[in-house]
Amino acid sequence: MDTEAVLQGAAQVCAERGGKLTIKRRQVLASLIASDKAMSAYDLADKCKDAYGVRLFPMSIYRILEFLQTVGLVHQLKTTNKFIACAHIPCDHADNTLQFLICKECNRVEEVGITNSLSEGLAKTLDSLGFRLMNDQVELECVCNNCSATA
Ligand SMILES: [Zn+2]
Ligand SMILES: [Zn+2]
Repeated sequence: MDTEAVLQGAAQVCAERGGKLTIKRRQVLASLIASDKAMSAYDLADKCKDAYGVRLFPMSIYRILEFLQTVGLVHQLKTTNKFIACAHIPCDHADNTLQFLICKECNRVEEVGITNSLSEGLAKTLDSLGFRLMNDQVELECVCNNCSATA
């Protein structure tokens, strides 16, 4: 992946959605793009220290992550409270439900989209059971091909 090109696209997304990709936001995003695993705020603090020599407090990282999520560049995995860069920057998730495949061996995360019709079907089923879907993000525990080959 061409990180520079992705970051340029990301800066454009920020501008369109009323924000700015500041240096710190850019450093956090670049760290996430470079990793195919989800990272916690603490992982990101370490990474920014190693890669850029900047000390960011977890609180500032959380604020940066919150902004990056708002503009759709970063996603939060609810099951682990870790973060990943969106797999398709710049992209619009309007038509898709967020779905993540998470390898439980190597922690690699793959972002895939399931179509609206699928989540609508799920919503209907839940409705008939007397539940309303509040969050349709899906996180599936998997084993990736690499890991099942070495197992
Ligand atoms: Zn995404
Ligand atoms: Zn794996």
